[in-house]
Amino acid sequence: MITTDVLIIGAGPTGLFAAHQINLIGLKCEIVDNLDKIGGQCIELYPDKPIYDIPAIPECTGEELTKNLINQLKPFNIKFHLSERVEELKKNNGNWEVTTNRGTKFLTPNIIIAGGVGAFEPRKFSLKECEKFENKSIFYSVKDKSIFKGKTISIFGGGDSALDWAIELANNSSINLIHRRDEFRAAQSSVEKVKELAKQGKIKLLTKYQLKNAVGSERLESIDIMHDDKSIQNLKSDYVLGFFGLIMQLGPIANWGLNLNKKTIKVDTEKFETNQKGIYAIGDICSYPGKLKLILSGFHEGALAARACFRLARPNEKYRFEFTTTSSNLKSRLGVKE
Ligand SMILES: Cc1cc2nc3c(=O)[nH]c(=O)nc-3n(C[C@H](O)[C@H](O)[C@H](O)COP(=O)(O)OP(=O)(O)OC[C@H]3O[C@@H](n4cnc5c(N)ncnc54)[C@H](O)[C@@H]3O)c2cc1C
Repeated sequence: MITTDVLIIGAGPTGLFAAHQINLIGLKCEIVDNLDKIGGQCIELYPDKPIYDIPAIPECTGEELTKNLINQLKPFNIKFHLSERVEELKKNNGNWEVTTNRGTKFLTPNIIIAGGVGAFEPRKFSLKECEKFENKSIFYSVKDKSIFKGKTISIFGGGDSALDWAIELANNSSINLIHRRDEFRAAQSSVEKVKELAKQGKIKLLTKYQLKNAVGSERLESIDIMHDDKSIQNLKSDYVLGFFGLIMQLGPIANWGLNLNKKTIKVDTEKFETNQKGIYAIGDICSYPGKLKLILSGFHEGALAARACFRLARPNEKYRFEFTTTSSNLKSRLGVKE
């Protein structure tokens, strides 16, 4: 069981800045995120797009903002638990006990939910047969591309991820690229590259097809795909990759007895506390009159929630407001030599 002053759920911009504020005032925190990377929507949905309304940063991309937020956390040595989704919540001797889908347990007086629009989950094949091959022969993201070397891979999808991986893996593997439409939604340069590789025989392009069956006992052997005209083709496949985008789900947090307002959690605007003592919500996931779903609002909400956490984490101490410019205390936590 990991004990900490604050557990932050969500490593998006809001969760990251809240972690900064928590450590600055002398508390410790751990961060859990369902994604395999840090940055939330900024990194998952728009890493290359410029943002123009972060105070004092005239322009930066989603990726640059994330890198800067991570850099700002460097003095604190924070533990991230990535690719883990929080599932269960229960009371334990006046504290909260939280368990993730991987069985990691946290004991804490404070939980800050910075879960954005919910946990990002890949959209999967609807075919029941696919489940038994998942994470063995059928994947929805690539963690280790070396396993595909010299193999036959059927890639499904018509967006950037499907085409980028088809192009990359075509170097060392035999690729079927299968899409249910004739047109692709990817960058024009990738579409042209795929067509060129198809002409050279390095990619087999199959459009207007959908997955009909996955064949094999322990491991996948082949797949059946069906054309719009109902004709069926069997393709030998060692692996299948499906890239159909992401869905966002509030998931088990929705059953934690919190005051929900559609897919958001109602909070007060003094502490950003929910209807449960010691559980706060900040960023896109919280709602209150006048809420703006902007990154800058999440930063402010995190700063206030962090101070609220102090009461429960250090019940016998009084929180003292200080500036980073003038406080030796804060500067020493930041590793600044005076
Ligand atoms: C295309 C686009 C452009 C945008 N442009 C701007 C802009 O210009 N300016 C601006 O201010 N805002 C912009 N936004 C909005 C901005 O990205 C969001 O307001 C911001 O990302 C919210 O941050 P967050 O930390 O609250 O949530 P998120 O960024 O959504 O991060 C939440 C994290 O929590 C994780 N999570 C959720 N549930 C769980 C769980 N149960 N267990 C573990 N982890 C969980 C998720 O995986 C995710 O990583 C834009 C959004 C989009 C989509």
